Amino acid sequence: MDILVIGAGLAGLSVAWHLRDQARVRVLERREQPGTEASSQNAGMIRRMGEDPYERALAVRTHERLEALPEELARFTPSRVTGALLGLVDDPWHLHDAAAHLRARGVRVESVDRPAEIAPILAGSPVRHAWYLPDERVADAHALVSGFVAGVRERGGEVRCREVVESVILEGGRAVGVRTADGELRADAVVLAAGAWSRHLAAEAGLSRPLVPLRRTLLQTAADSRAAGHPWTWLDDVGVYLRPEGTGWLLSGCDEAIDFPDDGPSTGPVEIEPRALALDKIERFLPALGEPRLTGGWTGLRTFAPDRRPMLGEDPELPGLWWAAGLGGFGVTCSLAVGEAVAGWLCGEQVPWLDREAVSPGRRTLRRWAIRPTGDLAGSKLVRVK
Ligand SMILES: Cc1cc2nc3c(=O)[nH]c(=O)nc-3n(C[C@H](O)[C@H](O)[C@H](O)COP(=O)(O)OP(=O)(O)OC[C@H]3O[C@@H](n4cnc5c(N)ncnc54)[C@H](O)[C@@H]3O)c2cc1C
Repeated sequence: MDILVIGAGLAGLSVAWHLRDQARVRVLERREQPGTEASSQNAGMIRRMGEDPYERALAVRTHERLEALPEELARFTPSRVTGALLGLVDDPWHLHDAAAHLRARGVRVESVDRPAEIAPILAGSPVRHAWYLPDERVADAHALVSGFVAGVRERGGEVRCREVVESVILEGGRAVGVRTADGELRADAVVLAAGAWSRHLAAEAGLSRPLVPLRRTLLQTAADSRAAGHPWTWLDDVGVYLRPEGTGWLLSGCDEAIDFPDDGPSTGPVEIEPRALALDKIERFLPALGEPRLTGGWTGLRTFAPDRRPMLGEDPELPGLWWAAGLGGFGVTCSLAVGEAVAGWLCGEQVPWLDREAVSPGRRTLRRWAIRPTGDLAGSKLVRVK
């Protein structure tokens, strides 16, 4: 089997890595290096306790895999256990379904009355309910990317940078290859894993797939001795999170703004409003942090389908075109499982832990969906999806 993958982010590389023994794989990446778009812009939290059951299925599977990695990936140390604290301020029941599901799967989820004893940065916080997951992890996305690339190349696969895919070649109603500036490449299947640019490439092939990129801001603080060894901490309903990064914190007020990228890099500088939003939330919900000195930050694109589920598997309207996109804010969390599922289906295997229809790129999608400009669930805003 001959497979072309468009995009060397976590999604495309994971698919390629899982196919490395069964297929001739070529990954085409427009940038100078693999993993330089969303896959380098994230906070790296591996979060199993999400709202969506399909996201959780992918997250639980990835977590299981990270606990027992083969040496060829383990030697890159792509993740480590930090523990996590998920707190709720306005809606104490918001994550109860997720907690029940995870517990049924054997994941350790503890309800905690005094969260500041586990996450001291919550001292004085108005949190009404909190969950502690002692086995949650943080990933080093760069290490994961490096491990995937090495694994693909060691088995004879290719990861080619500075290769811009201009369009997908269609013949007889099938995707049979891609066009680049250097000419045409043919394959048995094309995997569309182009992150925020996937929608555009699909549209060129005549498909309407409503993936919407949402920009989010991350901020870094100066050194704080309390950060060392602190579990990552996320107040989910009001939308603010932080985790240790270097000697300080990496934090976000969970801003969301629709922003379709051009051909240039998708990262951007910190703007005044999201910065102010994060500082306001710190004052209200994380008073123990005081007035942190911000030392830097960046923005990046999280690309979602309107139901916030990924698009995985063969496109029902275009045989030969396979999807690994729409990984939103959970692409690190689900990275290994996304590749395992798509590669498995490509090879004609059963993937019993994931419902294929639920993540199909051809599923019915909403015309309007709720984005969260201020990261606060109660402040969601309905937007029309074109
Ligand atoms: C601010 C922020 C915080 C986040 N925090 C977390 C977190 O804590 N936990 C978590 O699980 N996830 C998080 N995420 C999400 C995660 O980073 C993404 O879901 C994941 O990286 C998506 O990977 P991808 O491979 O789909 O996309 P990308 O990494 O964007 O890869 C797509 C690749 O396709 C290439 N490409 C595009 N078009 C073409 C073309 N025409 N030809 C060739 N190549 C092309 C691009 O250059 C790019 O390298 C966060 C994201 C952001 C932005």
